[in-house]
Amino acid sequence: MSHDPNKARDLQSSSAVPHELAFPLLTEEMMSRIRQYGTEEHIPAKTQIFRAGQREVNMFVIVKGTVKLYALDENNKRALVATQHAREFTGELDLITARHTLANGFTEKDCVLIRVRRDELRRLFNSEGDLANLIVRAAIWRRIALIEEDVSGVVLLGDVKDAYTIQLQRFLTRNSYPHRLVKAAGRLGIEGGCNSCGRLDSCVPAIVFPDGRILHRPTIAELADELGLMEVLDEDTIYDIIVVGAGPAGLATAVYAASEGLSVLVIEYAAPGGQAGTSSKIENYLGFPTGVSGHGLAMKAQLQAQKFGARIVVSRSVISIRRQGLFHRLVLSDGQVVRSRTVVIATGATYSKLDIQNYDRFEHQGIHYAATGMEGKLCSRQECIVVGGGNSAGQAALYLSAFAKHLHLVIRRESMAVSMSRYLVDRIESSTRITVHTHTEIEQLEGSATLECVRWINRKTGIRQALCVGSMFVMIGAKPNSGWLHDTVALDDKGFVLTGTAGAFEGSRYATTVPGIYAVGDVRSGSVKRVASAVGEGSAVVADIHRYLAEFCEGSLSRTS
Ligand SMILES: Cc1cc2nc3c(=O)[nH]c(=O)nc-3n(C[C@H](O)[C@H](O)[C@H](O)COP(=O)(O)OP(=O)(O)OC[C@H]3O[C@@H](n4cnc5c(N)ncnc54)[C@H](O)[C@@H]3O)c2cc1C
Repeated sequence: MSHDPNKARDLQSSSAVPHELAFPLLTEEMMSRIRQYGTEEHIPAKTQIFRAGQREVNMFVIVKGTVKLYALDENNKRALVATQHAREFTGELDLITARHTLANGFTEKDCVLIRVRRDELRRLFNSEGDLANLIVRAAIWRRIALIEEDVSGVVLLGDVKDAYTIQLQRFLTRNSYPHRLVKAAGRLGIEGGCNSCGRLDSCVPAIVFPDGRILHRPTIAELADELGLMEVLDEDTIYDIIVVGAGPAGLATAVYAASEGLSVLVIEYAAPGGQAGTSSKIENYLGFPTGVSGHGLAMKAQLQAQKFGARIVVSRSVISIRRQGLFHRLVLSDGQVVRSRTVVIATGATYSKLDIQNYDRFEHQGIHYAATGMEGKLCSRQECIVVGGGNSAGQAALYLSAFAKHLHLVIRRESMAVSMSRYLVDRIESSTRITVHTHTEIEQLEGSATLECVRWINRKTGIRQALCVGSMFVMIGAKPNSGWLHDTVALDDKGFVLTGTAGAFEGSRYATTVPGIYAVGDVRSGSVKRVASAVGEGSAVVADIHRYLAEFCEGSLSRTS
């Protein structure tokens, strides 16, 4: 994302969002309902009512007067974000997420405002469905406008082709944090440099905050802390459910559990959405005939869970879990401890990668792990490669060959028949659009910003070949993210979590071998590796958890949210 100084910076003049959805006018009837959740205050002109960086900021509804919202730009100058008048309300995504707010709010004239505090806002969300939808929709559109218009947020100083920069940018993007990527510090007029080497350009990537602070080569955890994506957790709070992983399965658990009144904490290492969040278009999810962006789906699911009261913290992984009497004690990667009555393991799987040089550099820059219509378009009229000898590779090869100029299926073994269903083998063998390369291994990847050339070797003949391709699909299986479970729950021989085994609590399909610990989605042994099935399992497990809590924890149940 490069900064265009000619772009509109005031959200209300943005053409990127529908104004009536981002800045809706409340009716008098809505105003009178909101009054039940807030207190009316007379606030003099030029008073700051909230500041950027504040957490859990109140929502203000304007009865009389004008409120101006400012962000700080990279030169520490105030930039007008929006001017709001009577019957409008302040706030954006942070109203729902409880994260740092991005703007400063000032009354311009003497104002009459209804202050709705956070606990009352939560009550309003639960009781006033139409108002909740209106506020949540506006919050989403306002954040989209902030991102689109380059208003507020941070500057990421780095090189678009540098993997570290890409990692930070991916983290910001997947967490919907407004930012822009700038290549050279000089262009920003930033003076001074890194504490250790005194230079700025050599210590990139760096994050430049609106107040001028610079974070050099931060870890994801450091960045998340600075941005307020992480919060200090309280060891004394006992949650009804701690969900580990915020992919489709974990988010579905959070939505259903929180909407049914259970207290829920979700801990996510990278960004809500999991693998699905990395898919630019999911074409086969029910109800979206034209597909749905994985990132969009994840962002909405996250807000939905938070609207119902679930807490979601990002940037720390859970590294261990231990049963302690009726409770479970989970340790996070930064040493924090959290406790709950039940745990839902929804840590998914990571697609296996090829162990070759440059691989990470081309991930999502030519290397893909799915074969949907979207990827089909990527290889339209081009040669492309599928690597793998299993059913998913076979299905992908057949599917993609309909788009590609020609498809090369690369397998290490002597024949597809060893690991692929007969019907797929037959279809592939009879296709003139697919060439199968057996005994073959990928050796080298080349390209500048994106993948341009793949070199492979036939181990039987020793013959090396190179092919100019922009897309390579790696379908060599997935490894469950279960290493952190150590010996807590039983795993199958591939490391997937065993559930529903003999003796599992009340025959629950999702119960692991430890009472009160459940597993859903891709990490579960025998699960169907699909977004819809992960969502289905995440919602279904909540019914089992209700039964468990009723039987074992009734006396100790207390609401924490
Ligand atoms: C590029 C791509 C495209 C896809 N396209 C489709 C498609 O079109 N249709 C379809 O049906 N399926 C598709 N899939 C498969 C689908 O995305 C997965 O089946 C689904 O995401 C599984 O959901 P999950 O919640 O079980 O796990 P995941 O999505 O894997 O989510 C697990 C989450 O847990 C987090 N995590 C892992 N370990 C820890 C830990 N110790 N502590 C805290 N957090 C942790 C991870 O960061 C991750 O966010 C695609 C997959 C990929 C990779």
